[in-house]
Amino acid sequence: MSDPFPEIKSTHSLVAKYVTKPIWDKLSRAVTKTSGFTLAQAIACATEFDNQHCGIYAGDWDSYKVFADVFDPLIQEYHGIAADAVHTSDMDVSKIQGNIDPAAPVHSCRIRVGRSIDGFGLSPGITKDQRVGVENLMKKAFANLTGDLAGTYFPLTGMDEKVRQQLVDDHFMFVSGDPNLKVAGMERDWPEGRGIFHNKEKTFLTWVNEEDQLRIISMQMGGDVRAVFDRLARGIKAVEDSVKAESGKDFMLDAKYGYVHSCPTNLGTGMRASVHVDLPGWTKEGLKPLQERCEELQLQPRGTRGESGGQTGVTYDISNKHRLGYSESQDGRAQEHSFRHQALVWRVGWHWSNATCTAPGPGEDQNAGCEVLRGDQNKHA
Ligand code: ADP
Ligand code: MG
Repeated sequence: MSDPFPEIKSTHSLVAKYVTKPIWDKLSRAVTKTSGFTLAQAIACATEFDNQHCGIYAGDWDSYKVFADVFDPLIQEYHGIAADAVHTSDMDVSKIQGNIDPAAPVHSCRIRVGRSIDGFGLSPGITKDQRVGVENLMKKAFANLTGDLAGTYFPLTGMDEKVRQQLVDDHFMFVSGDPNLKVAGMERDWPEGRGIFHNKEKTFLTWVNEEDQLRIISMQMGGDVRAVFDRLARGIKAVEDSVKAESGKDFMLDAKYGYVHSCPTNLGTGMRASVHVDLPGWTKEGLKPLQERCEELQLQPRGTRGESGGQTGVTYDISNKHRLGYSESQDGRAQEHSFRHQALVWRVGWHWSNATCTAPGPGEDQNAGCEVLRGDQNKHA
């Protein structure tokens, strides 16, 4: 027996392509063990909205296994990986050799990863008890952090509204209200169980129970991405060790899909490394041409107020697009398709340090990327 086949409003989504009638008939009544998640819940965004590219989320690690008939081909297509691909993580900061020229119009750098703790559901499916369990565990785990990583956890429940708004305005804090997150079930019981940890300088932060159980973040003003990456690598390790010491639990790490996230687009490194950079020429040109150019460079533009927050002035958030099939620190010069942040750093940096962009190493497109800025200057000076 199966449920009636749903109307998938996002007709061009990957869900529309891979949730076929036979697969629906096979899986519509399947329920995951950890959080009791169903395929209908997983594809809620694709059935509710007409604008989804992927349109699917996982409610727990089991979802990727129970609904593998949908997830596997969808993930392979989205990330461009083979069915037998495996993922390798590598947070070795010594491999990050580039840095942004101080003269580049970069306001700030931020690198975040998502992490999930084994045994608890993922945000779309996580039960109320599990969510509170994650928060309670993290309160203990954060208390063990030392040195520049030490800080304080602030639960969203009971947070002073002015304090909350300031954290949002300063780009440190998530907000509620994203329609995708809502429909996907990630705002159930809001704000309970959510919160933010940060050190005194607000250069090392962790979001608790937003789109992922954990979003571990390193950020600072200016363009020293090497320092940002270094702090992130140490921070992830410290949080992981502390979670293990407090609970005996590990981060969910899948041989095929790397670090497990609620959104399949984040699988792999779960890393989004961004700069806030001024692109006045592209602002005149419009978002669409910028999006197209970024697509060619395997980068992604967003507004400065975050994915769902919108654009301000001439400043954009430019970040890597790839996460699965590329390690975090992979040497961008050695391979054509590699660690995009490093490439991004060079790309932003090249323009300012080297007008003719002659710096890229073997395998890198000699001109790619410079144009994000160079085109800006040439076309719009
Ligand atoms: P995420 O991928 O972490 O969910 P969002 O697009 O939701 O990212 O943005 C989260 C917050 O991080 C927003 O407030 C955004 O302005 C901020 N942010 C992203 N990149 C940078 C950056 N390079 N410098 C400063 N703030 C940033
Ligand atoms: Mg987000």
